[in-house]
Amino acid sequence: MNLGEIVFNKLQELGKITSSEEGVTRFFLTKEHKKANKLLKTWMEDAGLKVKVDNVGNIVGEYRSAFENAPTLVMGSHQDTVKNGGKYDGALGIVLPIVVFKDFIKKVKTLPYNFKIIGFGDEEGGRFGTIYLGSKAVVGTFDYELLNEIDDDGVRLKEALENFGVEGNKIEESKIKEKVDGYLEVHIEQGPVLEDANIPVGIVKGIVGCHIYNFTFEGMAGHAGTVPMDLRKDAGVGVCSTVVEIEKYVSTVDDLVATIGKIDFSPYSINVIPGKATFTLDIRSSNDEIIIDSIQKIKKIAQNIATRRGLKLDIQNINKASSCNCDESITKILEKSILSVKNIDINPFYLYSGAGHDAQELKKITNIGMLFVRCKEGISHNPKESITPEDIEVASNVLTEFLKLYPNNN
Ligand SMILES: [Zn+2]
Repeated sequence: MNLGEIVFNKLQELGKITSSEEGVTRFFLTKEHKKANKLLKTWMEDAGLKVKVDNVGNIVGEYRSAFENAPTLVMGSHQDTVKNGGKYDGALGIVLPIVVFKDFIKKVKTLPYNFKIIGFGDEEGGRFGTIYLGSKAVVGTFDYELLNEIDDDGVRLKEALENFGVEGNKIEESKIKEKVDGYLEVHIEQGPVLEDANIPVGIVKGIVGCHIYNFTFEGMAGHAGTVPMDLRKDAGVGVCSTVVEIEKYVSTVDDLVATIGKIDFSPYSINVIPGKATFTLDIRSSNDEIIIDSIQKIKKIAQNIATRRGLKLDIQNINKASSCNCDESITKILEKSILSVKNIDINPFYLYSGAGHDAQELKKITNIGMLFVRCKEGISHNPKESITPEDIEVASNVLTEFLKLYPNNN
């Protein structure tokens, strides 16, 4: 079996740990999380790594270099999934480095750098609605207020940590103490760009910025039969007209995507004119200035429609995440690694990540890099998520070359 097949088989095994029949559902601090950590522990130990579970439930496998003052390279991704998610989102970025490291260290015996693989407990936020808890704990930005967050069954995060058997009141101990020199995350692309380009792996240039807004239009609810069209203050139509105009505008701007994922009418009734209507706007670009500039234009579009229709408009920002660039020295090593892989002729291909990743948090303490692996039709967060052993084999070979070249790119 080649490395790609070994990783693929392990991912099938890990994917069996799920609380749902359909797809994979593996939430933070659940018995499935515990089982996954147990399995990952056996694989990490088998690879020669020293393993511990930290106080937020992250599993950490470590190799210490015999060299004095050796730099530290960290790899990893998240063990958790969304509800009815796939087998590869997150999991690939933990299992692939374990398998590649095991194979590589057997050949070279020793590395000139320390090496850690982390399986982050929570990235998706499926259970408590709080994202990146695992990587936040590792970089030291965990907010203790979050311990009061409650899941759908009324369990507090604080209790969930206790039940998991970790010391939730000492999460600061999960913070990496040593200086980290680089973080590399392997992840499925979760989009169709690599498939479209017919390329198995791609180097991530950066992660796009993402702002989220709530737009609320207020008019006057009324009888669907008695209020003439010209006397209406229909908040629902205000929302719909704005949505259409936003799509028209955003389509004219390069490097910008916007999604209206939720629309809400109130009252929500067949025979009542909506008196209040809201929609969410998720807007992303690799360039933060484009987002900021576009938001101003979109606000104007919405305000003009509101004024024309006699509606009141309220716009609230819900979230602002800045774009984040991958480190040039790490991406250069990735580029070299791709060119060094034998028996395969691919050119380094660069792309942006439209989705958020643990790497964004790690960026707060170190230089980051990401390698994307093609996934079928770009489908992710879905039981249909699919990658091939052949593509994983390419990614494994690239990572082997990376481990050979790191930390030098000369
Ligand atoms: Zn992910």
